[in-house]
Amino acid sequence: MGGDSDRSLMELAAGVEARDRRALARAITLVESNRPADRSAADRLIEKLLPATGHALRLGISGPPGVGKSTFIEAFGLHLVEAGHRLAVLAIDPSSRVSGGSILGDKTRMAELSRHGSAFIRPSPAGGTLGGVARRTREAMLVCEAAGFDIVMIETVGVGQSETAVADMVDLFLLLVQPGGGDDLQGIKRGIVELADLVVVTKSDGALEPIAGRTGADYQAALRLLRPAADGAVQVQEVSAVTGKNIAALWQAVETAAKMAEANGTRASRRAAQAKTWLWSELSESLLAALKAHPEVAGRLPELETQVACGRVSPPAAAQALLAAFRKT
Ligand code: GDP
Repeated sequence: MGGDSDRSLMELAAGVEARDRRALARAITLVESNRPADRSAADRLIEKLLPATGHALRLGISGPPGVGKSTFIEAFGLHLVEAGHRLAVLAIDPSSRVSGGSILGDKTRMAELSRHGSAFIRPSPAGGTLGGVARRTREAMLVCEAAGFDIVMIETVGVGQSETAVADMVDLFLLLVQPGGGDDLQGIKRGIVELADLVVVTKSDGALEPIAGRTGADYQAALRLLRPAADGAVQVQEVSAVTGKNIAALWQAVETAAKMAEANGTRASRRAAQAKTWLWSELSESLLAALKAHPEVAGRLPELETQVACGRVSPPAAAQALLAAFRKT
């Protein structure tokens, strides 16, 4: 940005809080920037905005490619904005470089929602480590909250670690599954047990409707076995983004779960734990960046990597040598 003086940061923060779209876009560009100079400005901006954050419902939405995430978010999102909510949708997609843009790239995604005055849709910047993408998404979420969005959805492709990263920053996690994915059930179980607060069976319309019904029942049964009752029941909802089936009912279920979590203190304790996780991931990322930037470490790294690769030096010994070089100054 054109200058990161305190005054321009104050203006930017004020613009965000006044719900100015251009300020919002600029603030998110700033927190997404990889330039070291922008990093410290972004940190200060987040610090300024922090008191205005925390009031939104944070929803994670995940599922494999093709399950219907964007179609669902469009239908669900339109239902929410039409009911008077202000909705921000952010995406985490560290795999986009490899997969050719499973979340991004496709400009027609959520076309109607993106035109709505109460919605804001922002794809994640492509590339980078998951840690880096997660940090930027978390900060973008806070910027959106400061700009008065009362619901923030964070979307990710359910193909691995990014689900955990999303679960680490939301209040409720919705897992989208395909009708008829009987084989899937086995593979996806652990993920559900650990993360999902609600399971959404998509495409419950036409010929797929009875199949979706069976899939829903299978998930109900599996979840009853897998999830201890004390943990609270995981709801399963069959929806259709095409006919609108159960879209309103799903929102009711989400709202009820969110209200309960707020009333019984689980939301506050979850957010407190997430803040600690965030602290540790900041420390890990920053320490690693400092380590890699250290001249002596950087000088010795290529040689040690080669030695480790051909078995002449053990990885622990190489790590200790590099840490010793790092600590020396
Ligand atoms: P994503 O990759 O998870 O974002 O999936 P998309 O939203 O792009 O949807 C994948 C495919 O499923 C598309 O061809 C959609 O038209 C189709 N689809 C999505 N939602 C529904 C639905 O509710 N009913 C039916 N019949 N098809 C759907």
